[in-house]
Amino acid sequence: MLRTQSIRNKKKISLTVMLPLLVTFSILFSTFILIFVSYQAEKKTLMNTTLELNYVNATKMSDTINSLFKAMKQSLKSTASYMSANTYKSASVILAELDLIRGSSNYFNSLFWADETGLIHTVSPSSIGLAGQTLSTPASKIALALQQPYLSAPYIGTTNRLIVLMTEPVFDSEGRYRGFIGGTIYLQEANVIYDIFGLNTDNETGSYFYIVGPQGDLIFHPDRSRLGEDVSGNDVVQKLARGESGMEQVVNTRGVSYLAGFSAVAENNWGVIMQTPESTVYRQLTLLVREQLLNMLVPVLLMMAAAIFIAIKLAKPFVKLSALAARLSDGDAVSKNDFTPHWNKEANQLSHIMSLAVESVERQKASLSLAAATDQLTGLYNRRMLEESMRTWLVQGMPFSLIVLDIDRFKSVNDRFGHQTGDEVLKHLARVMSDCVRLGDICCRFGGEEFVILLPQAASQTTLKIAEDIRRTMERAVSPCGEPVTVSLGIAEYPLHADNADKLFQLADTALYTAKHEGRNRIVVAAPELVR
Ligand code: GH3
Ligand code: MG
Ligand code: MG
Repeated sequence: MLRTQSIRNKKKISLTVMLPLLVTFSILFSTFILIFVSYQAEKKTLMNTTLELNYVNATKMSDTINSLFKAMKQSLKSTASYMSANTYKSASVILAELDLIRGSSNYFNSLFWADETGLIHTVSPSSIGLAGQTLSTPASKIALALQQPYLSAPYIGTTNRLIVLMTEPVFDSEGRYRGFIGGTIYLQEANVIYDIFGLNTDNETGSYFYIVGPQGDLIFHPDRSRLGEDVSGNDVVQKLARGESGMEQVVNTRGVSYLAGFSAVAENNWGVIMQTPESTVYRQLTLLVREQLLNMLVPVLLMMAAAIFIAIKLAKPFVKLSALAARLSDGDAVSKNDFTPHWNKEANQLSHIMSLAVESVERQKASLSLAAATDQLTGLYNRRMLEESMRTWLVQGMPFSLIVLDIDRFKSVNDRFGHQTGDEVLKHLARVMSDCVRLGDICCRFGGEEFVILLPQAASQTTLKIAEDIRRTMERAVSPCGEPVTVSLGIAEYPLHADNADKLFQLADTALYTAKHEGRNRIVVAAPELVR
């Protein structure tokens, strides 16, 4: 039985496995989708926030630089106007003036006055030692030629430093050009921009800013070795060169992706770029997802446990029904009481229907076993049933009486009225027997025209009375052959006369034989001493 089961169910998945697996998968998948969707939303928010923040910072800085340059220009202008009135003064007086201006504002790393031929008259600080030299760099030549305020791109100055030069022309009282006042910013050393903004690299986010000149040269950058480098290839730098401001994702000249906010400085055509590596956003997202996962862990696990519990509960009745059905198909005993009600509608319905089916099978089986225990012609029990009952009672030690009964001269009934009428007489006798016995007595057709009655718990008096009832009724009643047919009866009693079935039968048979012998239509009770 087990073997056929296992073959039939090979490679089939049980509901108790499939349902929990399904709910587990559903919950895990939903959790994954939830985290994925929130990841996407967070990513967008973080990117936008970072871009906006960088843009705001770049704008603030460009505003600051704008004001700074206005002030620097103003300072140069006032120095130039001082010069236009004081060119005749001695070098030491002018130097003192330049030192004062430079020292009070800290705008410039150096201040100098060069005349219209490019000869440097005074330099502050004087330690630079350029006084007396003639300007030779292209930037100074442009400034001389322009005779207008001028701001250079970064270049290597006479002192071998990377600088930007800012100039203001000097005209005397007659309006003649007398040279210019130049202010320099040493890009690679402490300067006014570092003073204001510091190095400004955020170690936590990796954000930093840099400043480019109108031609895309690096004027300010945390990596000082890059100062002066041409980064005009950068998309954002090109936009700044066109005077645009905004925010966007850029890949820098070194292939790293950044979220950049940028703003042009109107005063000097510089551009400020504030940027954060994209990897910072991903790092924050990873932390966020980890936190989400940790927060969700307990509720998800609880939900999963509950769902698995319910799934198993749900699967259980079907698994049970399937096991019962398998037992049924294997011919094992299944009672209708094995099918219990269930809270699940379908399981309950199935259980109910199967219990009805089992009940009907039980009924059919019962009627089949009744048919197997019954004599077809008379409807009385047959010999099998008789033997079974007797065996049970003997095992139980229950007292009972046995009447053996035979129709007198039945052969002649058959001969005179035919076999069919004979059958009717047999049925007639069966009816009489059934009418005369008590409820619970067992009437059997033992074979041919011989009958046996088992009377449980019947005392001799009772048995004798029932036997006499049958005998007399037969004697008086008109049978189907048109005349009364009599019977002879032998009685034996357990355990009074014998302690086993064979002997009891033998005694009853002998009694019947005696009854026949003594003239028929009579009852004889066994006399055990005759047999023993
Ligand atoms: P007695 O018992 O009084 O000594 O005489 P009897 O004529 O009844 O003797 P016996 O027992 O020898 O005859 C029994 C007859 O019962 C023989 C047989 O034809 C008949 N018989 C047995 N079974 C059936 C049956 O099922 N139907 C019919 N009609 N007759 C049967
Ligand atoms: Mg007989
Ligand atoms: Mg007979």
